[in-house]
Amino acid sequence: MASISQNAAEELLRKVDRSFAAQWPIFWLPQVTSPFGWRPDPHQLGVERAFRAKVYHNGLDIRAGVGDPVRSIWPGVVIRVWQDDRNGNAIRILHLAHPEVVSGYAHLDLTKVVPGQIAVTPTRIALSGNSGRTEGAHLHFCVSVDRQWVDPTAALENNWTVDQFVEQLAAGDNHPKV
Ligand SMILES: [Zn+2]
Repeated sequence: MASISQNAAEELLRKVDRSFAAQWPIFWLPQVTSPFGWRPDPHQLGVERAFRAKVYHNGLDIRAGVGDPVRSIWPGVVIRVWQDDRNGNAIRILHLAHPEVVSGYAHLDLTKVVPGQIAVTPTRIALSGNSGRTEGAHLHFCVSVDRQWVDPTAALENNWTVDQFVEQLAAGDNHPKV
């Protein structure tokens, strides 16, 4: 079997990554059930929303059941697959065209990739679920740039490439169009 060097593979992926329009991580009828930013604590269930403590939501909650296929927003390299009490089963993907951009996927039922694996849409990287700290099945999706959480909504709604996303962030326009 012919093989290409790691560097050649990364260069190829960087090109694909650069030209690829953002895709919602849930394939069908994506619906944001909880947006990015400050929100009433979803875990203070006995308390009316208006009186709940405000907690920072570092990503989007996207409607999903248990077992819905999940894909990467842009192509990239899987850098972490792990499990903890809060995130449940989770995955992080680094987007090589802009290696400062990392996307995350949490509360998964099942992960289908391992670190080092290349995730090219429409590869299913996982199945959504209800693992970790949740009040029901959904996909928690987040994006960081230089280790800072940013709102990915506009990239998803406008199908920005990772280049366009980084440009818009630099221009200070990180707000979804309405
Ligand atoms: Zn969330």
